[in-house]
Amino acid sequence: MTEYSADVVVLGGGSGGYAAALRLAELGKDVVLVEKDKLGGTCLHRGCIPTKALLHAAEVADAARGAEEIGVQATFAGIDPARVRSYREGIVAKKFKGLEGLISTRGIRVVAGEGSLEAGPAVRVGDDLYRASDVILATGSYTRTLPGLEIAGRVLSSEQALDLDVVPARVVVLGGGVIGVEFASVWRSFGVEVTIVEALPHLLPAEDVSSSKALERAFRKRGIAFHLGKRFSSITETAASVTVSLDDGTTLDADYVLVAVGRGPATAGLGFEEAGIGLERGFVQTDERLRTTVPHVWAVGDIVAGLQLAHRGFAQGIFVAEEIAGLAPVLVPDIDVPRVAYSHPEVASVGLTEAQAQERFGAEGIRAYEYNLAGNGRSEIIGTSGIVKIVRRVDGPVLGAHLVGDRVGELITEAQLAIGWEAHPEDIAPFIHAHPTQSEALGEAFLALAGKPLHAL
Ligand SMILES: Cc1cc2nc3c(=O)[nH]c(=O)nc-3n(C[C@H](O)[C@H](O)[C@H](O)COP(=O)(O)OP(=O)(O)OC[C@H]3O[C@@H](n4cnc5c(N)ncnc54)[C@H](O)[C@@H]3O)c2cc1C
Repeated sequence: MTEYSADVVVLGGGSGGYAAALRLAELGKDVVLVEKDKLGGTCLHRGCIPTKALLHAAEVADAARGAEEIGVQATFAGIDPARVRSYREGIVAKKFKGLEGLISTRGIRVVAGEGSLEAGPAVRVGDDLYRASDVILATGSYTRTLPGLEIAGRVLSSEQALDLDVVPARVVVLGGGVIGVEFASVWRSFGVEVTIVEALPHLLPAEDVSSSKALERAFRKRGIAFHLGKRFSSITETAASVTVSLDDGTTLDADYVLVAVGRGPATAGLGFEEAGIGLERGFVQTDERLRTTVPHVWAVGDIVAGLQLAHRGFAQGIFVAEEIAGLAPVLVPDIDVPRVAYSHPEVASVGLTEAQAQERFGAEGIRAYEYNLAGNGRSEIIGTSGIVKIVRRVDGPVLGAHLVGDRVGELITEAQLAIGWEAHPEDIAPFIHAHPTQSEALGEAFLALAGKPLHAL
């Protein structure tokens, strides 16, 4: 056995882990980053980036289909899965190379191999032991499934769905959360017959109900079928197809089933419990400063209960790095983390839903205003519909923003700043939004809540 030492060992080189390592190196710390697969983790190789590349291919397919309508001569001749794959892989490869370069330039020692936590704190990789003053756990998450549903054959996780080298004729998507609606959206644009099954009453059930309903309207219009409030009951598979049965007796035939019912924390078998780390439903227990139950061991990213998003992982990684360096950084509460589903149309939000705001401040204590994108010139030009809904405290700050429509993910930052800085709509109303932009829809909502609507009643 060889022993090494470092200031900090980071276990897992995904969004949370590599962000922590980069910031620690910037702060002059000697960092070891242990990764068993590829730096960049789920987001870069199997999540955010490749799925958004697929969604862009889907957008181009839709644009080709609709081109004639706006006087552009183009036809949609079909999808070439091999070309889509090489486009997607090319993007991931470029980003991966860039990340590897950055990690090496910052002088971070990368150890390839599967690590496990030991008391000390230390991380064991094979016969080697890496001791450090602090250890950061960042081992990420895996696809959950349901009892009686094994991911194999025609039953796919998001990872296998990404790798599918055919455009299927019919797909059933189990789960109407972000991953489910994004894949449903891509497949529909590729010409697939798609049916989503969601156990809760709405698609994207964690979003403001008006966003969920707007997405459901848009999906219905696109021919995406969904069963809401229905549960998976069983599945039968033949060589050529699958039949999914629901708890109300409905049966759905398809070529493939995508299981998108959530992601569990990757914390088993890594020595966490043996080293004294408290777990709750598999997630690492932390306090608000991301300290685990063992001194000098921290946790970031998807293994910490809450929103499983790459940018939350980045923020938590930076936070812990600065905390270790004694900089007393400000906390990053989940409620301030922006959320985007990149489907067609997109759904973006930050802050409280109207229902959460009512619960906190009472129905009389808040005001919500919904601006319809039908009044927004740029949205009309690009052919999208949807809503911008802003929730404010009566005579107080903006509490939440909920947007639906193509490209609205790019608008969420303004609302995020307003919420983070506790701005009142009256503070934002004087700031001019360029015309014609989709951002004007946000401006209109702020103007209306400030009592001076422009293109609205
Ligand atoms: C299909 C899909 C689409 C997504 N789209 C988005 C999106 O658009 N936007 C967004 O914000 N989020 C998205 N996410 C979520 C995002 O990918 C995760 O929130 C993010 O990757 C979490 O970062 P992490 O560092 O916690 O974990 P991960 O990125 O999973 O990284 C963990 C790393 O640890 C390594 N590891 C695990 N165990 C060990 C061990 N014992 N030893 C050494 N290494 C180990 C793994 O190999 C991995 O590289 C998506 C996820 C999926 C699945």
